[in-house]
Amino acid sequence: MNSTTENRGALDLRKAGSPGAFARGFVTDFRRFLLKYAAVPYLRIRRQAQPLRIASQVVFALITISIGWHFGSWVSYLGDSTSTPAIRPPGVEAFLPISALISLKQWALTGVINEIHPSGLVIFLLILLTGLFLKKGFCSWICPVGLFSEFLGRLRLFTFKTRKNYVLPKWLDWPLRSIKYLLLWFFLNAILVHMSLDKIETFVNSPYNRVADIKMMMFFTDISQFALNVMFWLVVLSFVIPYFWCRYLCPYGALLGILSVFSPVKIRRNTETCTDCEACSKVCPAAITVHKLKAVTSDECHACLKCVDSCPVNDTLNLGAVKKGFQIRPHVYAFSLAILFAGGIGLAQITGNWHNGISLDEYRMHCANIDSPIYTHSRGDVASYEEGLNSGITVEEAERKRLEMKDLRIADDEYTPGDGNNYGN
Ligand code: SF4
Ligand code: SF4
Repeated sequence: MNSTTENRGALDLRKAGSPGAFARGFVTDFRRFLLKYAAVPYLRIRRQAQPLRIASQVVFALITISIGWHFGSWVSYLGDSTSTPAIRPPGVEAFLPISALISLKQWALTGVINEIHPSGLVIFLLILLTGLFLKKGFCSWICPVGLFSEFLGRLRLFTFKTRKNYVLPKWLDWPLRSIKYLLLWFFLNAILVHMSLDKIETFVNSPYNRVADIKMMMFFTDISQFALNVMFWLVVLSFVIPYFWCRYLCPYGALLGILSVFSPVKIRRNTETCTDCEACSKVCPAAITVHKLKAVTSDECHACLKCVDSCPVNDTLNLGAVKKGFQIRPHVYAFSLAILFAGGIGLAQITGNWHNGISLDEYRMHCANIDSPIYTHSRGDVASYEEGLNSGITVEEAERKRLEMKDLRIADDEYTPGDGNNYGN
C-alpha cells in the first residue's frame, strides 16, 4: 500500500493549515467513514433481506438458548435452596402452546388472563398477530426450529454440491402437507369446540399445568429411546427434504399459514417489468411458482424474501401491503417484527401479565412430588388442584425428602443426573 492510499480516509493534519481547513478535513473524513462502515451496509440491508433475516434468527436462537439455560438453573435452585439463586424466565412458557390455546379460550370466555402461564398466552397471541399482519414471518425470521431446518437444508446442498432443493412429487407433497392441518384440527377441535369452561379451569389450575414447563424440561433431560428415535428421523428427513417438519408436521405453522392468507402483506410481482427469468421460483424453499403469480397468497410462503433478493430487475418483486406500490423494505419488516414482540411483552409486563403467580415454595412442593401420577394427564384429563394438594406433600416434607435424596445421591456412586427422581439436587 503506498503512502497516498494510506493517508486516504485519515485526517490529513498537514493540510490543516487553519482551524477552518482542519474542520473541513475532519468532516470529509467523517463522511467517508460513515459511508464505508454504516451507509453502504445499511443500503445493502435495505435491499438484501438475507443477512438481516439470518441475524434475526440467530438472535432469537440465542435468546431461546439463554431462556433454556436460565430455566435449567432455576429448576436446580428449586431443588437446592443453598445453590446459586436463579430466576424463572417467563419466556419459557413460549414452549407450552397447548396450554396457551386453553388459556386463550379461558380469556375469551371470562375476560381473565390466568396467572399460571400468562406469558405463554401473551407470546401465543403475539405469534398469531405476526401471522395476521406480517405473514408467516415467525417461521423464517424467529423460530429456532426454522433456523435448524434451514441449516440442515444448507448442509444437504453443501454435502451434495448442488444448488437445487429436493421437492417431493405433488401426489406425495399434498397429502403430507395436510398432516399438519389434521394435527391443528385435532387440537382446535378438542380445545375450542369440546372443552367446557369447567374443564378449562380445572386444566389451567391443575398440578400438571402448574409444572408443565418443568415436565417439558424433564422430557428432554430424561428423554426416552422412542422420542430420541423420532427426533433422529425428523433430523434425517429434514436433511433430505427441506423444511420437512415445518412443511408437513408443525401445527403452529399450519395455524400461521391460515392466518397469513388474510394478511395484507404479500409478495407482489410487477407483471409489466418482470422478464420471466424464473429466478424467484428457483430459490423459493416453499416451491411456490412465484414467477407465475401476481401476488403470493400461498399458506406455505413464510416471508423469507429469498425470491425478492434473487430478482434481477429492480422493484419488480417486493413485499408489499394491499395498497399498490406500498413496499415494505426488509429492515422495516424486521423492525416491525421486533417492535411487535418488544411492545407486546412490554405491555404484558406493565399490566402484570408476564410473571406468573406461583410461589417458589409451591414450586418446591410440586417438584419434590413430581413423579406422582397427579402430575400427568391422560388425553387432557388431569387431576384437580385440590386433588393435587390432598395427595401432595407440605413444603416441610418436601424439604425433608430433598435432603434424603441428596444423602442418597452422595452415597450412590452410580447416580446419574436426569434419572427419574432427581428433583431436589
Ligand atoms: S414466495 Fe418468496 S418469501 Fe415466500 S417462501 Fe417463497 S421465496 Fe420465501
Ligand atoms: S425473478 Fe423477478 S424478473 Fe425473474 S421471474 Fe421472478 S419476478 Fe420476474
